[in-house]
Amino acid sequence: MSLIVQKFGGSSVANPERIKNVASRVAEYYKRGDSVVVVVSALGDTTDDLLDLAGQITKTPSRRELDMLLSTGEQISVSLLAMALHELKCEAISFTGAQVGIRTDSSYTKARIVDINTQRLWAALKEKKVTLVAGFQGMDSNHEITTLGRGGSDLTAVALAKVLSADSCEIYTDVDGIYTADPRLVKDAVKISKISYEEMLELASSGAQVMQARSIEVAGKFNIPLHVRSSFTKNEGTWIVKEEKSMEEVLVRGVSSNKDEAKLTVSGLPNKPGVAATIFRMLADEGINVDMIIQNIGDPNHTDISFTLPKSDADTAVNSLQKISRKVGFKKISTDLGLSKVSVVGIGMRSHAGVAAAMFEVLGKNGINIEMISTSEIKISCVVKRQDMEKAVKLLHQKFELGKKTKKK
Ligand code: ASP
Ligand code: MG
Repeated sequence: MSLIVQKFGGSSVANPERIKNVASRVAEYYKRGDSVVVVVSALGDTTDDLLDLAGQITKTPSRRELDMLLSTGEQISVSLLAMALHELKCEAISFTGAQVGIRTDSSYTKARIVDINTQRLWAALKEKKVTLVAGFQGMDSNHEITTLGRGGSDLTAVALAKVLSADSCEIYTDVDGIYTADPRLVKDAVKISKISYEEMLELASSGAQVMQARSIEVAGKFNIPLHVRSSFTKNEGTWIVKEEKSMEEVLVRGVSSNKDEAKLTVSGLPNKPGVAATIFRMLADEGINVDMIIQNIGDPNHTDISFTLPKSDADTAVNSLQKISRKVGFKKISTDLGLSKVSVVGIGMRSHAGVAAAMFEVLGKNGINIEMISTSEIKISCVVKRQDMEKAVKLLHQKFELGKKTKKK
């Protein structure tokens, strides 16, 4: 008998049939005698639809009201799943985040969990009920409803696994694990059986959309093994675990890509202290996440700064930069909206030289121009033209022998 936390993503509960499918999966564990805590996301694209609705009312919704709105998505799925379990003669009860004492700070739309009062959860589990918790939400100390950032149901699941000292934490999704590259782009991509938190975090923050980056960070911090698997099959998925010695033997664990990147270049900036600070402070205050930054000194008095950001934020960034153009004093802003980012990730890079060189060589030989480069200890990212992205991913996947035929065990 174990205590299991299971999280089901939006696509796993997209319609009544799928909700019933999830219920029968959960019921199996329950009937076997396990204590089960289930976290669910909103049905299908509900969260996007709710955001769209708000957008039709106002361009500047109050963030408090936005969280009131967005949190309803998960309330729908959790109650429907409880009903589906009742149909299968399972005792089950659904709760909102607030009801089970998930207390957060007050930063609406990206709140952080502060603590979880587990009393009510334990009471329900003692009564032998499947305990269902609406993902992605909590309540601040003023009893205001908050949400945990997009994809935040993963974080709810990881946090509950931590406070309940669960025996396992399963993340159910519509793919059967983490792959060496996006299988839609690379036919011979291979399912990874085990990956370290660090590698997964880098993959998630450079385009692999299977899990919320923050939830992986928290799982790593508390060493909670995660099993990412499909809700449609019984196959074993990918385990995300603490780094193991043998993992270092693999140079590159996977290739990820981010399709929609933009590059802004602010040129002719005065070359003096505080200029970069003014620009990036303003972008940060607008909530814009800047990724790579390059500064070039042209003549001694002037510099150019280029940076990448999500394509969807480019307009906002240009508008706000224009507002401070007088104060900062630059010549012009140029925009390139047609870019993508490809990254290779692997903890083996720490102890093996030459991965960056190999990456640049393969791109160069195949006529793919690199617009920008950034590296971390275990990741190398290159920005390329969007039309080159798919080819770049395929070439890198092949180069580092990640495919079915070439993969070494
Ligand atoms: N429904 C929320 C979202 O789409 C949270 C989640 O799916 O985890 O971002
Ligand atoms: Mg969702």
